[in-house]
Amino acid sequence: MRDREIYKKIQFEEGIVIGLIVVVILGVILASFAVIYSERAKVEAYNNGVCKQCGGKYEYLQAIGHRDYTTYLYRCRQCGKMLELSQAR
Ligand SMILES: [Zn+2]
Repeated sequence: MRDREIYKKIQFEEGIVIGLIVVVILGVILASFAVIYSERAKVEAYNNGVCKQCGGKYEYLQAIGHRDYTTYLYRCRQCGKMLELSQAR
């Protein structure tokens, strides 16, 4: 009877550990998807430095430092469209 209780306790603790591992793995997967998605969105928006509206070249203006990220400002040389790209530090 005593052995059984100990075994149950071990099983319960293993269940918690496995649960935690699954949660951590899911968290990492979700986080990396979010990073990939936002990186793609940035690349898409930057479009190799070519303005999507007029086909003009983006010109680098300035970088604005925030607490945990930096915003880079670009402006289209032809139509003046502004583009903001943020990058985590
Ligand atoms: Zn343009």
